[in-house]
Amino acid sequence: MFTPAPGRYGAMPYRRCGRSGLDLPAVALGLWQNFGEGTPETRRREIVRRAVDLGITHLDLANNYGPPPGAAEAALGRLLAGDLAGLRDELVISTKAGYTQWPGPYGEGGSRKYLLASLDQSLGRLGLDHVDIFYSHRFDPTTPLHETLGALLTAVRSGRARYAGISSYSAERTVQALAVAAEIGLDLLVHQPSYSMVNRWVEDGDPSLLDVVGDAGLGTVVFSPLAQGLLTDKYLDGVPEDSRAARGGPFRREFLTEETLGHVRALNEIAAARGQTLAQMAIAWVLRDPRVTTALVGASSPAQLDSSVAALDGPGFSQDELMAIDSHAVDAGVNIWGPRSSD
Ligand code: NAP
Repeated sequence: MFTPAPGRYGAMPYRRCGRSGLDLPAVALGLWQNFGEGTPETRRREIVRRAVDLGITHLDLANNYGPPPGAAEAALGRLLAGDLAGLRDELVISTKAGYTQWPGPYGEGGSRKYLLASLDQSLGRLGLDHVDIFYSHRFDPTTPLHETLGALLTAVRSGRARYAGISSYSAERTVQALAVAAEIGLDLLVHQPSYSMVNRWVEDGDPSLLDVVGDAGLGTVVFSPLAQGLLTDKYLDGVPEDSRAARGGPFRREFLTEETLGHVRALNEIAAARGQTLAQMAIAWVLRDPRVTTALVGASSPAQLDSSVAALDGPGFSQDELMAIDSHAVDAGVNIWGPRSSD
């Protein structure tokens, strides 16, 4: 029997998601890594329970999170039927479809056939009749935006999703998506892009993606604010055995160049002078922009989540600190989602 911490909602700041009526926690938990079959059930359970205790109401998924694909949704489904039974309406659960999920022509992309079939499969694994946010996980250049966004509209109108979002769409594709959404009567709630001190693409261009979503009144849930662990003190003296880089997944060892590590060391010193860990400063830094609703982190232990949420207790940034950070917050080539954002 799990009894969530009674004070949890007093401890977490909630930020309004754009011009919607939905509040999201300043820090949310993603189940991309550490929720596959390779992670013991007890560990997955501890992490999700700690998230709930910390007031993290938003849990982010996608059809393909695992491994194998679908395993993270199935794991959360078991928790929703167990520890979290009775808490469904206190949680915002999101899922996505866009990347390859099953073989053949209907198992990826942005078609109506794929998106709605995938959503139904996700609901089955989660044991839910609806998710709170359903995302188009990536822009699909081979499918008309009317079809992709029309499928999101069907998801909402049929009650399978409360809200709709897009992920990793470039500024230009987002402008196009917003126009189509307005035409068909779809209120997009949120954009989910990658963003961190070493991956600042959302700031680039005129208008930038942040300008576009801010002006349109969408919220922004930014993922990988720790650059998958690069923006922590973890890799300063090599690659620890239990780290994501050692596991040989999406964190590529080639991210760890001497040049990048030099910047990470300098950022680590700035964080220490602020009385924070680098991870905490990295989270606070993405949240410094009011157009960013939520920092969407991953965690391989409950202690990491504690530490990440403690970022919210840190000091604000002075202009001098922001300038010092800017000289080291330079692109580290970690945006592995970039090529899929505009195609
Ligand atoms: P992240 O927060 O940048 O990286 C998480 C990793 O950083 C952890 O696995 C852990 O590495 C390390 N870490 C976390 N907290 C720490 C702390 N306090 N101190 C030291 N190290 C810490 O985020 P992410 O896992 O890459 O992505 C977060 C979520 O974003 C995903 O779960 C998913 O929901 C979403 N996402 C979305 C997309 C998309 O296309 N929309 C793509 C990627 C991710 P170790 O495992 O090495 O301990």
